[in-house]
Amino acid sequence: MSKYIFVTGGVTSSLGKGIISSSLGKLLKARGYKVAIQKFDPYINVDPGTLNPYEHGECYVTEDGAETDLDLGHYERFLDEPTSQANNVTTGRVYQTVINKERQGDYLGKTVQVVPHITDEIQRRMRLLATENDYDIVITEIGGTVGDIESQPYLEAIRQLRWKLGSSDTISIHLTLIPYLKASEELKTKPTQHSVKELLENGIQPDVLVCRTEKHLTKEIRRKLALFCNVNINAVIESIDVPSIYEVPIRMMEENLDKIVLSKLKLNAGSRPDMTRWKDFLEKMKHPHEEVEIALVGKYVELPDAYKSIHESFIHAGTVNQVKVKLNYIHSESLNARNIKSKLKGMHGILVAPGFGHRGVDGKLEAVRFARESRIPFFGICLGMQIGVIEFARNVLGLKEANSTEMDELTPYPVIDLMEEQKSITVKGGTMRLGAYSCRLDKKSRAYGIYGKEMIRERHRHRYEFNNDFLELFEKNGMKAAGVNPDSNLVEIMEIPDHPWYVGVQFHPELKSTVMHPHPLFVHFVKAAILQKERNTEDSQKVASVS
Ligand code: GLN
Repeated sequence: MSKYIFVTGGVTSSLGKGIISSSLGKLLKARGYKVAIQKFDPYINVDPGTLNPYEHGECYVTEDGAETDLDLGHYERFLDEPTSQANNVTTGRVYQTVINKERQGDYLGKTVQVVPHITDEIQRRMRLLATENDYDIVITEIGGTVGDIESQPYLEAIRQLRWKLGSSDTISIHLTLIPYLKASEELKTKPTQHSVKELLENGIQPDVLVCRTEKHLTKEIRRKLALFCNVNINAVIESIDVPSIYEVPIRMMEENLDKIVLSKLKLNAGSRPDMTRWKDFLEKMKHPHEEVEIALVGKYVELPDAYKSIHESFIHAGTVNQVKVKLNYIHSESLNARNIKSKLKGMHGILVAPGFGHRGVDGKLEAVRFARESRIPFFGICLGMQIGVIEFARNVLGLKEANSTEMDELTPYPVIDLMEEQKSITVKGGTMRLGAYSCRLDKKSRAYGIYGKEMIRERHRHRYEFNNDFLELFEKNGMKAAGVNPDSNLVEIMEIPDHPWYVGVQFHPELKSTVMHPHPLFVHFVKAAILQKERNTEDSQKVASVS
């Protein structure tokens, strides 16, 4: 019999429900429980795959090819366990299921309504992970903020589930903000009181309050919150601002969040969670030996959430190497042949990011050219690899009009082209090459040395591919296919062996980097950046001694 934890948010969005859920999941797992986390998003898109990254940040892709909310990335990075389509549900998906059933006649004769049909479908999905796997605990995070019109069916579903299953099998955690008013030098509890009232109006009494705050909660504030929100004083949990999200599990452990949750669920608290490896990671992260600078060239840089997994992968990889990676977000539209040198000066590595459409492509081409010619470590991810291929075709192979058919359908040299099976597809949702595919590495490649094995599996999200008609020409001139899909022969990795570190990957390695298992490509790219820094220092010393 599984137990259910529901996490809602109040007062404002962006309080970090995903991090709190992940941290709690991590602690419960460390106490020996089998835990799953899922996210319910109240928007009407069937999945976030068709959303612009400016809307909700990066679209995270699971092994089974689901396009999901970026919080699933946190779940995987913290818990070190893969998620799937079942871990992310949207209102659109819920309605789609109910409407399809209605068309099939499943509700024949009945009026189909939000209550009970939509709320029943939400409850079915809330329990799906647990019914299909034997999880001890399923944490369900509800997107948005209590009080939103869109959240109401979810709150009603939680209320009904709690009523059906009882209070020791389900608990409600409410994440809220305790603002600090500078003028009166006080923490304020009123917004939380209102938010809890809103929850109560929906029939949900929170069991635990997790309070985001920039100042420590005094005993008095905790007492006030407990009294007015009707929770135990030890269930008022402080979640103070910390410099890194990876500190949150430790803070939550210090506040006994896991213990309180387990006692409310009438589960054995067992021994203290073993967080030794996690703490070692934190120690290393906080004490880097040096800093390397990496440029992330992309077009959604105004919103760093658009590159969330890449950002986190660098934290993991930097920590392993005991360096701090200073990630410089550079807008590809701001780059051109004249300013490229000054804009990328001092970078020890250049990463060209994934993306869609032609905006900013010229700047990305300049960035790759600069990295290739100046022999600075280069890492191209998805579109970043495709840009590497186009740049090589234009500037090394002399095919000046080479392009991807995504940018120029009529290019005479379509070095990146639509896959055959993509050509007839017109609908946009969920139709890309998605999810994990195998790749066989060439034993002579850099990638093979990095992964240390021949067969790998990585996650994809793209429509276009390297055009194998050009492969021979590329290989003859120094750019090699280091990994190909064994079934379809599609090129997955391109390398320039005669370069200190030039790796372009068609897949998204950032989606598989976790705290406990940093991704080898990121780890080695950071290593290459450290070597580049050493080379720069040697060069400047030589210049100094000559002059
Ligand atoms: N736009 C490219 C494609 O569809 C690359 C996608 C990506 O970078 N995720 O193939």
